[in-house]
Amino acid sequence: MSKELCKLKKELKSDLREYILLVNQPRFVCQKCGRAANDKKNVCSPVKLTGKL
Ligand SMILES: [Zn+2]
Repeated sequence: MSKELCKLKKELKSDLREYILLVNQPRFVCQKCGRAANDKKNVCSPVKLTGKL
């Protein structure tokens, strides 16, 4: 699965288990949508999460 999570809507409900696997250890956050993901390829405008703000 290499879709951008930002674009998922309905799919989220049916693939919730798969979705959880993509977001359970987020390292990137989408600057545009605010969605977090393990992999930068799963959000449309990834920014790396760091411990600090
Ligand atoms: Zn996005």
